[in-house]
Amino acid sequence: MWCRSTPAKRSTGALLVDHPYRRARAALATQHGKLRALGPPLARRPGLIVEPVAVDTDAFGTFTGTMPRTGTAAQAALAKARAGMAASSLTLGLASEGSFGPHPWLPFGAGGVETLAFIDAQRGLELTLSAVSRRTNFAHHDVVAGGDIAPFLARIGFPAHALVVKAQDGAVLASGVQDMAQLSALAWPGNRLETDMRAHLNPTRMAAIRALAGRLAARLARLCPACACPGFGEVDVARGLPCSSCGSATQGVQAIIDGCGVCSHRETRPRPDGVTAASPASCDWCNP
Ligand SMILES: [Zn+2]
Ligand SMILES: [Zn+2]
Repeated sequence: MWCRSTPAKRSTGALLVDHPYRRARAALATQHGKLRALGPPLARRPGLIVEPVAVDTDAFGTFTGTMPRTGTAAQAALAKARAGMAASSLTLGLASEGSFGPHPWLPFGAGGVETLAFIDAQRGLELTLSAVSRRTNFAHHDVVAGGDIAPFLARIGFPAHALVVKAQDGAVLASGVQDMAQLSALAWPGNRLETDMRAHLNPTRMAAIRALAGRLAARLARLCPACACPGFGEVDVARGLPCSSCGSATQGVQAIIDGCGVCSHRETRPRPDGVTAASPASCDWCNP
């Protein structure tokens, strides 16, 4: 209903003069200066004005472990976005959430997953996008007597990337450490140095969030061909890519399914890489 007031103009790229989000304000619940990463891509298209709202996002879980997170990363990001909307009375909300291994949500070791949530309360749209990045500096180092911390510092990109220093019992002695003198005074044997994963103290994370914001911007710029709501894009894949030798269906992805987050409209499109057949090596008939 809300969406039909907007003319359905199909476009995936250029500036959308009549996009419903052009010059619309969206609340960004943040404590960690993510506006720098999220604002510019979303301003370019679909033209959202991202407004930071001071919300105690640490209440949703902290990286130093002082406040454990409940639920999934997507749920946490959506909850933060709702908190920003409530605090600002805006009907559009945004929030991001990072997860770093080892972690219950991560099936592999030291990796990072950035999750971005977008809510449009008027249209009933809730969208979350995630990106796995193997390029993360998430790491820790236990200080030992006579040991050299320099290689660890070089590897994690100190001082551009900050550190958290913890005592043996896990107590946080300092966070956001980017000063060598301060670090030297705390780097006693038994203490642990951990990468500070808060976005504004971690340029690697900031770059990952910026890349994900670009994906969200492209997704929001696309309007549903049926109801004209923003955010039309990939929601599923169709498997059954035919074997190049015998033609039987394999587990390979055959097509991408785009969908709308508000109405039930779905469209199937070919794989963007142009692959139309699977190798016989992945076929249950040819290679049982
Ligand atoms: Zn086959
Ligand atoms: Zn729709």
